[in-house]
Amino acid sequence: MTNSALPTQQDLHKLLKTHFGYDGFRPNQQEIIESICNGQDALVIMPTGGGKSMCFQLPALALDGVALVISPLIALMKDQVDALRANGIKAAYYNSTQPPEEMQKVLSDLQHNALDLIYVAPESLQLLDPVLSTIKISLIAIDEAHCISSWGHDFRPAYTQLGYLKRRYPETPLVALTATADRSTQDDIAQQLSIPQAKKYISSFDRPNLYLDVRPGQKRNEQILDFLEDHPFESGIIYCLSRKSTENLAAKLKSNGHNAAAYHAGMSAEQRSKVQEDFINDTTPIICATIAFGMGIDKSNVRWVIHYNMPKNLEGYYQEIGRAGRDGLPSHTVLFYSYADTMQLRQFIDGAKNADYQMAKLDRMQQYAEALSCRRKVLINYFGEFLSQDCGNCDICKNAPAYFDGTVLTQKVLSGVARMQQKEAMGTVIDVLRGSQNAQVYDKGYQNIKTYGAAKDVSWRDLQQYVIQMINQGLLEIRFRESGRLLLTPLSKEVLYDGKKIQLAKPSKEKAKPITKERKPKKPKGSLFEKLRELRAELAREANVAAYIVFSDASLKDM
Ligand code: ADP
Ligand code: MG
Repeated sequence: MTNSALPTQQDLHKLLKTHFGYDGFRPNQQEIIESICNGQDALVIMPTGGGKSMCFQLPALALDGVALVISPLIALMKDQVDALRANGIKAAYYNSTQPPEEMQKVLSDLQHNALDLIYVAPESLQLLDPVLSTIKISLIAIDEAHCISSWGHDFRPAYTQLGYLKRRYPETPLVALTATADRSTQDDIAQQLSIPQAKKYISSFDRPNLYLDVRPGQKRNEQILDFLEDHPFESGIIYCLSRKSTENLAAKLKSNGHNAAAYHAGMSAEQRSKVQEDFINDTTPIICATIAFGMGIDKSNVRWVIHYNMPKNLEGYYQEIGRAGRDGLPSHTVLFYSYADTMQLRQFIDGAKNADYQMAKLDRMQQYAEALSCRRKVLINYFGEFLSQDCGNCDICKNAPAYFDGTVLTQKVLSGVARMQQKEAMGTVIDVLRGSQNAQVYDKGYQNIKTYGAAKDVSWRDLQQYVIQMINQGLLEIRFRESGRLLLTPLSKEVLYDGKKIQLAKPSKEKAKPITKERKPKKPKGSLFEKLRELRAELAREANVAAYIVFSDASLKDM
């Protein structure tokens, strides 16, 4: 195919069928492929397994010249190239692990226009430069593009040099692809790759079959045993923070008659692969694991995932709950949340290189756990998508809080943010709206703006809850990297100027009900066992109520 005529939809479908054997595109693939073929830059955010590679592999076949693919994973490069070659596609890779004669062969193939795709490690790109500037490059793909962001969890210094590519080849479409990027990381990627105008394609991160459940973290073991009684013979994963706790919990479950095993990076490779295998073939249905477990495990019938401790950020949480229900069937996820856990996480993070950023991420995780509106909306919004309706499949939707027309209050907050030039973080915004007389407010002259004191009848804590709801509804955006300042969004303009109505949930003092209930008796009534069990259940109920009050008070102190 030549460049003179753009490939038609039929051409693209034909290539998909003949080279890959697929009958149709996955969501967003076709739009992305067409835009690349039209010479446009693109930023692709698609969950793992969503089919990102196809987005550049197909245009590579449709367009003239060789597609330059930057990939950080040398180990996976060979697999990808082998798979392409098996499909009759002319692909090669170029990196430092190759013998010199192989590298030479790649260079010569490039010069003779004998390749459709060339995979390169970012570190080896420079070596290719002289050849690249003499041949036709059809497109540039930056895979795992989050590696460019120094704030991300997988930063690769070599990625930061890639910004020159767009400047050197301005006419060549550049596509950046990743599975993990919140909105500010997305902007960072586009900025650093010199494609600030690139169109963003965000594939749905929503997994509607996952029930999202957050529970107070008291009496977790009891709650888990209850849960397991309600989910017999099901396969699931319990994520714990420490290696020790995976072992303790597995032992506890086993002593209660459950078939469970521990898994963590401290175990030998043989032990780990044995546990993994037993899990995959349902010999051991329950795994108590650190986050080391799950990567690359393809098991479709995981029915539930429990987080014994809160993860550090929503990316990790999303990835881990995403291991449940890959078959699309209803699956349950439980996150245990306690104030003490967040304090512990804060201590871990404190003093880390990018502590501010990690703290802001943790804040968002905590806000999710404390959300008073549809959790799925919060989660999906975090990844840059909007859900127009409440999901009906999370604990909040199932126990819906009371809503009121919060339009006026929302307008006050948004207009306050606007009047403070979108420079301030949540704390200052709340102080100003409540008419606080603290020095920070006065130093900046905020006592003179129109919204000063506009919400003085709302308590600090409630107002904070409302602002969090506004963030979660996409009415405000938090810039983690800029001291958490709040910004308006396109949606906030609709509220300010077009009279869009906003519902807010009344913060209730009991935001989540402790759910420990009496477990179904296994022994005949009247036995000593049964009596002890009753007694314990009663104690648990009381202890839980007490613990819950402590929990609320503690959260109050934080605010
Ligand atoms: P990602 O990089 O987004 O994690 P991959 O590109 O590795 O995902 O694709 C995941 C799987 O989906 C691969 O096995 C791929 O062949 C398959 N796939 C991609 N596009 C399609 C499609 N249109 N129809 C069916 N399967 C597809
Ligand atoms: Mg991929």
